[in-house]
Amino acid sequence: MADPKGFLTTPRQTPARRPVDVRITDWREVYTEFGADRLERQAGRCMDCGIPFCHTGCPLGNLIPEWNDLVYTGDWRAAAERLHATNNFPEFTGRLCPAPCESACVLGISSDPVAIKQVEVEIINRAWAEGWVPPRRPAPAALAAGQKVAVIGSGPAGLAAAQQLTRAGHAVTVFERADAPGGLLRYGIPEFKMEKRHLDRRLIQMLAEGTEFRCGLTAGVDVSAAQLRAEYAAVVLACGATVARGLPVPGAELAGIHQAMEYLPLANRAVAAGDTEPAISARGRHVVIIGGGDTGADCLGTAIRQGAASVTQLEILPRPPDHRPADEPWPTHPAIFRISSAHEEGGDRVYAASTQRFLADDTGRVSGLVVAAVTPSPSGFVPVPGSERELAGDLVLLAMGFTGAERPGLLTDLGVQFDGRGNVARNARFHTSVPGVFVAGDAGRGQSLIVWAIAEGRSAAAAVDEYLCGDTSLPAPIGPAAAPLR
Ligand SMILES: Cc1cc2nc3c(=O)[nH]c(=O)nc-3n(C[C@H](O)[C@H](O)[C@H](O)COP(=O)(O)OP(=O)(O)OC[C@H]3O[C@@H](n4cnc5c(N)ncnc54)[C@H](O)[C@@H]3O)c2cc1C
Ligand code: SF4
Repeated sequence: MADPKGFLTTPRQTPARRPVDVRITDWREVYTEFGADRLERQAGRCMDCGIPFCHTGCPLGNLIPEWNDLVYTGDWRAAAERLHATNNFPEFTGRLCPAPCESACVLGISSDPVAIKQVEVEIINRAWAEGWVPPRRPAPAALAAGQKVAVIGSGPAGLAAAQQLTRAGHAVTVFERADAPGGLLRYGIPEFKMEKRHLDRRLIQMLAEGTEFRCGLTAGVDVSAAQLRAEYAAVVLACGATVARGLPVPGAELAGIHQAMEYLPLANRAVAAGDTEPAISARGRHVVIIGGGDTGADCLGTAIRQGAASVTQLEILPRPPDHRPADEPWPTHPAIFRISSAHEEGGDRVYAASTQRFLADDTGRVSGLVVAAVTPSPSGFVPVPGSERELAGDLVLLAMGFTGAERPGLLTDLGVQFDGRGNVARNARFHTSVPGVFVAGDAGRGQSLIVWAIAEGRSAAAAVDEYLCGDTSLPAPIGPAAAPLR
């Protein structure tokens, strides 16, 4: 156990965010340095429970009490090894994960939970700084037995599958249609949540281990489904759930209305190019974001940094409660009112509101929305009569989630089957209906989280290794039907 009295004597602390008026002038991450001394005391709050529910809260099964103890006793190198035993990319989850482990922390029943996510990110920051994250090349015997595997898509699921399979000795080629690897980590998630240098540093490690990346190639177009099946012993589909949900109301076709994933990639590319003006910019605009989730919050923080005149975020659901409701008891990850860094920076949040139609100016550009208050009914949310009002907005960003993987092209040509939710169907070993073709991440699970994508990538890699070699020693943290604690 870390500090036997730590949970009694040390209050929870997490790093401060940089002042709002400073951080909205740049794109750097919002958090300040925390410091090793303070972090060791935070790790010391862990009670090393007999049944560590945090393990169950984390889809990767991260060995949280073990690394808390190692950090508390100052053995950071061993902590980094234990962390990497279950997580290929703790620098991603340590910055971006909503930390369901903390919702499941036993200390959280009676006090504030252990700052698990902060301990995770500090361990990996230290490990990179100390040079404790070298490339891990496969053994010659494993290489000799390895076979050719194609991974389609380079988001967290594809990267995790590729790293596991490369380390197991297989010759892995990652096909990515974008110009650089990373999936949503690179072109969805803004720099202020995770600076891309963390992604690039991990990709250098993967290249040194032997993973090959072929970017700017769309599987199903530049390389056909038949070619993939002929040239590779196995194919892993990790192509995400990229079909965005639309809003079929009058005026939806107007200029100035864009999907979040049209807007955010342009913004990320502009930042990468030295903060140039993107083709879709919020500068001087009255921005309305439809969708109150994390993607909407990413649009909000981006629009504020681009110099929006105003930002309003609409959500159809009612405002969540401030505290854990009775029907979402510990150790579940409850839907409560959360204030992300972007919400601190400005904008208005409007709940229980639904867009009825868009208004146009005389050039055909959106100039506003008619919104109505909604109330729940057996058939969904219905407008409250007489509650319609106009809201000005000349840039509208749709952030209402995704309906599944893109079917035309690769998936249709491969002939994979889909499940009832529109995702690529798979069996208990992540195998699709097509022999030798596996699926991992959002393409099989539906829109989810980075931690689930990494867990799926690891499990799918184990299944591929077993398929190719007859057995496997790769870990499989989850099955395809695993779900968050409910
Ligand atoms: C804006 C936004 C912000 C988010 N923020 C967070 C967050 O803070 N924390 C969190 O946990 N989760 C977040 N998520 C969710 C998380 O990013 C996803 O769950 C995760 O990235 C899914 O990983 P994946 O590898 O399955 O797919 P993706 O990351 O979507 O990667 C799929 C890749 O496949 C490529 N591809 C698709 N088809 C082809 C093809 N035919 N040929 C070649 N390449 C192809 C795509 O270009 C893409 O690069 C966010 C999602 C969005 C949209
Ligand atoms: S990956 Fe997420 S759930 Fe797992 S330990 Fe880290 S913050 Fe917690």
